[in-house]
Amino acid sequence: MTTHDIAVIPGDGIGLEVTPAALEVAQAAGRRHGFAFRLTEYDWSCERYLREGAMMPPDGLDRLRGHDAVFLGAVGAPGVPDHVSLWGLLIPIRRAFRQYVNLRPVRRFEGVESPVRGDIDLVVVRENTEGEYSEIGGRMNRGFPEEMAVQEAVFTRAGVTRVLDYAFELAGRRRGYLTSATKSNGIVHTLPFWDELVRERAAGHPGVRWDQEHIDALCAKLVLEPSRFDVLVGSNLFGDILSDLAAAVAGSIGIAPSANLNPEREFPSMFEPVHGSAPDIAGQGVADPIGAIWSAALMVEHLGHAGAADEIVAAIADVLAKGDVRTRDLGGTAGTEEFTRAVLRSLDGAA
Ligand code: ATP
Ligand code: MG
Repeated sequence: MTTHDIAVIPGDGIGLEVTPAALEVAQAAGRRHGFAFRLTEYDWSCERYLREGAMMPPDGLDRLRGHDAVFLGAVGAPGVPDHVSLWGLLIPIRRAFRQYVNLRPVRRFEGVESPVRGDIDLVVVRENTEGEYSEIGGRMNRGFPEEMAVQEAVFTRAGVTRVLDYAFELAGRRRGYLTSATKSNGIVHTLPFWDELVRERAAGHPGVRWDQEHIDALCAKLVLEPSRFDVLVGSNLFGDILSDLAAAVAGSIGIAPSANLNPEREFPSMFEPVHGSAPDIAGQGVADPIGAIWSAALMVEHLGHAGAADEIVAAIADVLAKGDVRTRDLGGTAGTEEFTRAVLRSLDGAA
């Protein structure tokens, strides 16, 4: 029996509710497929920040380093600015562990209302370590008419190439179609470079059809004809926008999963639902656990158990298609626990 060593950071708000649900489902899948988890919980959170002045201890990254993967619920709390959780926890982990791929699968499940027409089965690959989210820049002349702000974006050949290669390879394993998000008509240094590298990497993946679209037009097409897309790849900012848009188009932010991957496996990868801590519904037991459960499925897949991961996603799809057990965000009345039980039942019924 393989045992995977997982660092668990439930975080804040509904993170504390959806994390146990997701891990329970992953463990049930493991029992069916001959693997198990050793879980080590860390209380790193905005709550810890309010108590101790830091999201995680100074040696936090070193503590995570030896684990096979990190599972994170959600971090965020009213009164704590988003940049605290971002720069105090999420971004350091993503960068230190070279998690340069942010993977966000999006599917339209039968039984989930969507504001758009057509099937959706796509994956957004977001560059996760450089690009527009740099710390380089500054403010000048505060309070004067000449006040200004400057922010630099960083695109490196190595950084762009590695995420493009991941996206092309993923497209090759899926329906063989990749769309690159750009805006090289308006942004005249970084994105033309990105486009050049897309063309260069495309030459190495002759089996994959590819297109590029300006981010504005791409957002419109994602709403108007989502079924044409397979793999979408974008910079840190564009990938961020595309994945939230795609998740909304598929029905609810509550069902969207994500993986922060270090594809070379030099360091642990991190798995987390796309949604935040949702303080408006926290503590009520009503959070939709699908985003977290699906993220756990991505973790199971990354740990080498693709069959078990497929079964978890199939169990989610099965419960949604039956339609009698649904959480509030999807128009139902079930709580987190009841929905999780239904997924576990479906998993046990799997062949
Ligand atoms: P944070 O500051 O942590 O990002 P937030 O409130 O800004 O939190 P989300 O947590 O993503 O952002 O919540 C946005 C909205 O979506 C909220 O109204 C929340 O209740 C709802 N929501 C998010 N996740 C879920 C979920 N899993 N189940 C049900 N509703 C959810
Ligand atoms: Mg938020």
